[in-house]
Amino acid sequence: MCAVQPPTGCTIEHTCEYTDAHRQISALALENCWATTALKVIHRVKTALAHPENTPGDALSGQKRQGRILRSMTAIERPRRLRRTPALRRLVAETTLQPRQLVLPMFVADGIDDPRAISSMPGVYQHTLDSLRKAAVEAATAGVGGLMLFGVPLPEDKDAIGSQASDPDGILNRGLRAIAEEVGDATVIMADTCLDEFTDHGHCGVVAADGTVDNDATLHRYVEMALAQADAGAAMLGTSGMMDGQVGAIRRGLDAVGHTDTAILAYAAKYASAFYGPFREAVGSSLVGDRRTYQQDPANRRESLRELELDLAEGADIVMVKPAMSYLDILRDVADRSTVPVAAYQISGEYAMITAAAERGWIDRRAAIEESLLGIRRAGADIVLTYWATEAAHWLS
Ligand SMILES: [Zn+2]
Repeated sequence: MCAVQPPTGCTIEHTCEYTDAHRQISALALENCWATTALKVIHRVKTALAHPENTPGDALSGQKRQGRILRSMTAIERPRRLRRTPALRRLVAETTLQPRQLVLPMFVADGIDDPRAISSMPGVYQHTLDSLRKAAVEAATAGVGGLMLFGVPLPEDKDAIGSQASDPDGILNRGLRAIAEEVGDATVIMADTCLDEFTDHGHCGVVAADGTVDNDATLHRYVEMALAQADAGAAMLGTSGMMDGQVGAIRRGLDAVGHTDTAILAYAAKYASAFYGPFREAVGSSLVGDRRTYQQDPANRRESLRELELDLAEGADIVMVKPAMSYLDILRDVADRSTVPVAAYQISGEYAMITAAAERGWIDRRAAIEESLLGIRRAGADIVLTYWATEAAHWLS
C-alpha cells in the first residue's frame, strides 16, 4: 500500500501511480481530482521517493533517478517568486499610474461667492472664479496632466439653444480664460463642448418642434461654442454630446478660422449610464427624461467600434470611453484599435460609490481609489479623467 496521502479535500480514493495494481486508473484519478500540475508533480515525486523500486526508470542509476526527480521539482511554476517583496513587485509591474496621466474635471459656477459643495460628491465643489484659479494651480503644481472644465450658469441664463455656451462672457468661457491666465501651458486646459449645462431643457442639443433632439441644428451650436472656447484659451475640446458628425463639424469650424492647433478629445463611446446621477447635481442639470436617443445603449459593444472609426475619420486627436468602470471591455476594444491616445472618464457615480463605501468604513479609500485608477489604465486608458486627479497626483509623486 502506498504511504503517500492525497491532498486534503480529495474525495477520490487514493491510488498510487507506481504500484502495479493501480497503475492504470491513477492517471484518470489525478486528472479528475488534483487539478493543478503542481500537485501532480508533488505527488509523483513523493511517490517515487516512497516506492523507488517501482519508479519508471528503475533501470537508471540512483544518481540519474535523483536528477529526474529534481527536474520534476524545478518544473513547478512559481509565479509567487516575483511577488515576494515590494521591490520585486515594483520591478515587474506592467501598468503605471502617474500624475501626468490624470485629468481633473472641474466645475465653475456663475453667481456664487463661495465654493458650493456637491452633496452627492463629497470633496468636489462648484468653484467661484477665484477658487477655480486656486484649484487649477494646485492641480498643475501636482503634475496633473489636464483640467476639463464644465460651466454652471445661473438658472435664469439658460435658454432653448444654450446661448451662454457660446457667449464669450458665459461662465464657462470666463472660467477658461481665468485658468488659462493662471496656469498657461503648465497643464492642458480642456473645455466641455456640450450644451446640456446651458439649455433650459437640459438636453445636449437643440430640441426640435416634435421634441426630438435635432442633430444637425445642434452641430451649428457646437461649432459656435467650440470657437468661443478656443478663443478663451482651451487647448482641447471635449465633444461629449454624442451628436453624429460632431467631431468633423467642430474640426472644420476651428480650421476655418485658424484654430488649427486646438485639439479634439472625442467622446467616442459614451453610454447612457445610471452612474451619471451625481454629475446632474454638479452641473445643476435641468434635464427631464433621459438621453437614450443619442447616448449609447449599455447593451452594445460593437457599436462603440463604429463610433470610434467615425471619430477617427472625422479628425479626433484623442478618443474617450465614458463611463469607465462598467465599460472596461469597451475601453480594451477601443485601445486595441485606436491610432490615437485613449482616455476614459471615471464618472461621478463611480466617485460617489467609492466615497460612500469608504465613509462607512466598508473599503479602504485610498487603496480602492488607486486600484480603480490602475484598473482603468490596465484596461487600455492612456489618460484617466478622475475627480481624484489632484489627490492621487500627490500620492503618486
Ligand atoms: Zn451633454
